Amino acid sequence: MSFTIDQESERTLRFSGISASRGIAIGPAFRYQRTLLKGEDHAISPSEVQHQIERFESAVQRARKEIEKIRRLAEQKVGTPASSIFEAQMMMVSDEFILDSIRRRIKHELKPAAYAVDVELSEQQALLKAGENPIMRERADDVEDIKQRLLRYLLDRAKWHSKIDKPSIIIAEFLTPADAILFSRSEDRTTAVLGFALDGGGVTSHVAILARSLGLPSVVALHNASESINTGDMVILDGERGELIVNPDQETLRGYQEEQQLFALGASESPIETIDPSISGARTRDGKPITISMNLEFGSEVAIAEAERTSILGSAKVDATRTPALGLGLVRTEHFLLLNEELPTEEEQNALYEDLAKRFAPAEITLRTFDVGGDKVLAGSYREDNPFLGWRGLRISLDEPEIFLAQLRAILRASCFGKVRMMFPMVTNIDELRRALKYLEQAKSQLTANREDFDDGLPVGIMIEVPAAALLAHVFAPLIDFFSIGTNDLTQYTLAVDRGNDLIATMYQELHPAVLRLIQLTIVAAHAEGKKACVCGELGGYPLATPVLVGLGVDEFSVAPSQVRSLAARIHAIDSTEAEALANDILKNAQSPNEVKQEILTFLGDRQLMTRYSEAIVGPSTFGKKLIKR
Ligand code: PEP
Ligand code: MG
Repeated sequence: MSFTIDQESERTLRFSGISASRGIAIGPAFRYQRTLLKGEDHAISPSEVQHQIERFESAVQRARKEIEKIRRLAEQKVGTPASSIFEAQMMMVSDEFILDSIRRRIKHELKPAAYAVDVELSEQQALLKAGENPIMRERADDVEDIKQRLLRYLLDRAKWHSKIDKPSIIIAEFLTPADAILFSRSEDRTTAVLGFALDGGGVTSHVAILARSLGLPSVVALHNASESINTGDMVILDGERGELIVNPDQETLRGYQEEQQLFALGASESPIETIDPSISGARTRDGKPITISMNLEFGSEVAIAEAERTSILGSAKVDATRTPALGLGLVRTEHFLLLNEELPTEEEQNALYEDLAKRFAPAEITLRTFDVGGDKVLAGSYREDNPFLGWRGLRISLDEPEIFLAQLRAILRASCFGKVRMMFPMVTNIDELRRALKYLEQAKSQLTANREDFDDGLPVGIMIEVPAAALLAHVFAPLIDFFSIGTNDLTQYTLAVDRGNDLIATMYQELHPAVLRLIQLTIVAAHAEGKKACVCGELGGYPLATPVLVGLGVDEFSVAPSQVRSLAARIHAIDSTEAEALANDILKNAQSPNEVKQEILTFLGDRQLMTRYSEAIVGPSTFGKKLIKR
């Protein structure tokens, strides 16, 4: 845990965690305390066995009913894919193997039902937690939810109070997926939940996935922050930097309020003229077209991206089915893979890619080949000392040609059903690209031999996320159709700062002049070959970065669906020639991330695009933005 007491106000506390869902929330805290129930160990007499088993069966029935109710609510709130979290819970509470083990403990070990449930489900949790796969480790929280639900019935405890009576930020040691859904059930703005701040949890936890689907800012891994916060305390939840500030001083508060407005710019319900469907994006004030597309990480986001597209295009009074606007600039295909734990077959992949191509046609979708490795480790895979510098992305695909070819064929086959682009992650060396392109040719020949259709002209790009690739972008440019700059990795590899490490989060500075120079090199190399350069890392959605990225000549921004409107509004507010002068000035003069930021703030301030940022936000210690990352 890290917290500092602000010098101006003794009561101000700052906690650092990890951002699980972006955005900024400001409001009163609601401290949600759920004492974890435990089943006491004692012996029961054989005559009590039947009664205990009956109590257990009735608890299971009640749990199923409640989970089904929550699942339906979740379906309304976040759609089917995300609500399937509760289907998985339902399966767990219907798993006869587990239920039988509990019955046996009651019957043969002569234990009360509550204790049998506690021991059996705790063992299941321990098994999940001991695994290699971080996603499975976080699934242990779902078992906790079921365990606590059953214990509550068995110990006759009252219902948890997951309800608020005014807009609040939920502060808790941990939340279950059900809590997250129940807190967000109110449709009424006066009792709406504003965000979640949790001591525990991870960015891949179900609560984090739900928070993203609900569009609620959230910070996890705040260690024991909740201990120091009371209901009613004023808090700022900073899902941009992964911070929680309690009882902020006026200066900090004002700064955040301004930043919140900046984020909200263009996010209103009003029709947005800033999205120009005919150019698939937004125009700068002086008319320069810039493409905007969306990033898709989890299956659960498909519906959100679609809804955002329809709502934006609908408000621009255009037939969403006929305009190429708002496609997908990055589909992280590995996420569909990791969530299912099993390598999907070519057919399964093709079904997914084809579905996306059809849904977004005639807009383009960009399928990135699997980027496993790094922090996205497959179960049972080899343990590496430095996974981020290890067997990752295209390196794995090239070593596993059968898997790679199956994915390439699946993507190619989908290309007949819409407009599909493909790109390779973690390219470092031109030989890797040459080999990947050879496999692509091989995949095409295999399909031709099988008389399968595909789009032979499907555009192929590479991610620029390793400094070596940015420095040699001119070598790569002739071989590809586009670059997509992955600023998340480009920043970590350029600055040697692990993107997921709390301890050095403040050093993770995407607006570092060194990172900007690499972005510039990439764009210049792309344009020299008449190719496009996209930014698909988190920097693309970061409000302060818009003027400098526009100025550097970025052709396309791919951002989270929730960021499209505000990005379009920001692009529309900027003159591209002025932005170019700003970018040149920054590259020439700025020596540190803080100087970059200061120049941008002055640029925005001079044009009344933003009044003022407080020192609290400008200061280097709060500038290291944590990533929304698995
Ligand atoms: C990136 O590195 O910026 C990127 C978009 O890829 P990912 O976050 O999936 O590593
Ligand atoms: Mg990356």
